Amino acid sequence: MSAVTPGMVCSHHHLYSALARGMPAPPRQPTKFIEILEQVWWRLDVALDEEMIRWSAMLAAVEALQCGTTAIVDHHESPSAIEGSLSVIANACAAVGVRTNVAYGVTDRHGAEGARRGLAENERFLRAGGRGMVGVHAAFTCTDDTLRGAAELAAELGVGVHIHVAEGPDDANAGERLHALATDDWHLVHCVHLDRDLPGTIAHNPRSNMNNSVGYARPAARPNRVVLGTDGIGADMLEEARLAYVRLREDDVLASPDTVWQWLENGYRLFPEARHDRVTWNYDHADSPWHVAFTPGVRALQVEVDGEVLLADGVPTRVDLAEVRAKAAEQARRLFARL
Ligand SMILES: [Zn+2]
Repeated sequence: MSAVTPGMVCSHHHLYSALARGMPAPPRQPTKFIEILEQVWWRLDVALDEEMIRWSAMLAAVEALQCGTTAIVDHHESPSAIEGSLSVIANACAAVGVRTNVAYGVTDRHGAEGARRGLAENERFLRAGGRGMVGVHAAFTCTDDTLRGAAELAAELGVGVHIHVAEGPDDANAGERLHALATDDWHLVHCVHLDRDLPGTIAHNPRSNMNNSVGYARPAARPNRVVLGTDGIGADMLEEARLAYVRLREDDVLASPDTVWQWLENGYRLFPEARHDRVTWNYDHADSPWHVAFTPGVRALQVEVDGEVLLADGVPTRVDLAEVRAKAAEQARRLFARL
């Protein structure tokens, strides 16, 4: 017996993280969140080039499909390869058959010119008809001018802003910086240390928050719509939902898995068509929150999108799994050599 559900939606991902696994240890051990950014992610993203971006997206999309995830909201940064990067990601995922909503994370970490180029990449991609949002890394790495520029561009193009908000204590004044700018279509990621409510959807990433030791976001206590993301640690949404549930439950013993299931459901606001994707699972109650919450290891056997089988017996049909893994491994070696 096996259950069939709609496709899963990962509502916050960093596809470029697919190559980061096994990367060399940083020169100094990070002791807090800002040092994890400085010594791990900001060294990694600056080393990315187009081929690395392509194969990390391809590998991450294949791995998403193998978890029954057919739609991904991606947040991308590659300061040394900005122009065209969003198209590379969207095309790689489309080749595998995974739907995407992409954004380039604008930042002033590389000066005003870097921020301008990031904003231009969002604009180029969206004006060409690409599906996405205007990305911003986070308020604490941007000037007020850059934040305003991103908000204005998003409003002009009729999309939201996809931004990390108060993930760690270093961004604790994000509420003050953003409250005059944020609107209902903004995609607010983390909101762990946010000191007020902002309009928008909150993307909750429990595993990443625990891994970075930033604290519990308590998303159920916010009035916002909540969706679930992985923040770059794969795209297994049933796994993320199980973790979201126990983290919620640790905070509130009266909480129910239905709350977390609703967070998964809310992902269809971003990708309504993913409701019609069909995922066949290896477990006959994969459609039941109370079953899934207590059943680790549920796997997708088959995935069907628009009538096309994209995953058969756990293997992608459009691309060669072994080839994708080999190419991604080759790019990971190049990336690690640069680090
Ligand atoms: Zn993130």
